[in-house]
This record gives sequence, structure tokens and C-alpha cells, in this order.
Amino acid sequence: MHIHIFWDSLSPPGLQIPVTRQISSILGIPATVSENHVRMMGYVDGRKQIDAQVLLDSIQAYKHRHAIQDPILLVVHQDLFKNGNSFVFGLARQSVGAAVVSTARLSNEYYGRDGNDDDLIDRITKEGTHELGHLLGLDHCLDQECIMFKPDTLDELDRKKKVLCRMCREQLSGHLTSD
Ligand SMILES: [Zn+2]
Ligand SMILES: [Zn+2]
Repeated sequence: MHIHIFWDSLSPPGLQIPVTRQISSILGIPATVSENHVRMMGYVDGRKQIDAQVLLDSIQAYKHRHAIQDPILLVVHQDLFKNGNSFVFGLARQSVGAAVVSTARLSNEYYGRDGNDDDLIDRITKEGTHELGHLLGLDHCLDQECIMFKPDTLDELDRKKKVLCRMCREQLSGHLTSD
């Protein structure tokens, strides 16, 4: 298995290499990053947000067209929402191996604090690994420090460590070896 990360051209530049390296090391799966090839869809003018489900449709179509089985994670700079949620940090569709993460609410600047690339790398890594974890069959975890814990706020995201808890790690290795 191989993870493909697509980095939208307006996502924070210069961070894709460290993020990709860390995601790969947390999951223990090789990963490569490239510019985004997926058609950007789902932008809603009135909300200035992208409907994450529509964007996942677009990734799904791209995967189908190019017969790609491996998981794809798309990193975008636009804010995302899904039906019923005012925003989402990211979203995964396990059945088709497609996931998307937004950097919009991950920067310190969004909250009026001083920018910091290391914070941003940490958060994109955590969110990206979390959504990929879903694609690899993991559910949400109650351990607040585990990557698979579902954060509702930036503080909850920052509280997580860049690791899977022991239970999630064992579950993941079970899924990977049974394929
Ligand atoms: Zn989740
Ligand atoms: Zn866990």
C-alpha cells in the first residue's frame, strides 16, 4: 500500500515534505506528496466554504478514472463544511479511500495568534493521519491523546499526540496484515 497526498497550490507552501514524512512514519506506510490533480468542486459562495462531501465525490471520480486503489488525502486551504456541521477540519470516505483536510482553521493566525510553522505542521499531520486512519479502517478513539480522538476545537487537536494509542496501533496492524 502507498499513500498519495495531494497538496493544493494555495495550501501553506513548504510544509508538505515534513507533513508527508511524519504521516508516513506514524502510520508505518510509505507516502508521497504531489501537487493536486483533483478538480476542485463544491465551493458555496454564500458560505465561502467547500462542501467536503462534494470534494470527496471529485476525489472518488479521479480515483475511478485513473484506477487508483491506494488512499488519497487532499490538503486544501479553503474552509470545509458538511451537511449538519458549520465546519469540519477534515472528512474521510472509507468505502472509496478518499479523504480531505483543510488548513483554514489550523493556523494560529486564524485565532489571532502569532503564526508558527511547527504548530501548523503538527496540526496538518494530526488531521491528515486521523482521516487516513479512517480510510485504513480505524474508528474514533476515546483516548484524548490518540490521533483517532475526534477533536471539536483547536485545543483538543493540540492536546493529541502525534501517535496512535496502543489499541489503535494494534487494530491498524491487524487491518494491514489481513489485506
Ligand atoms: Zn474522525
Ligand atoms: Zn486510539
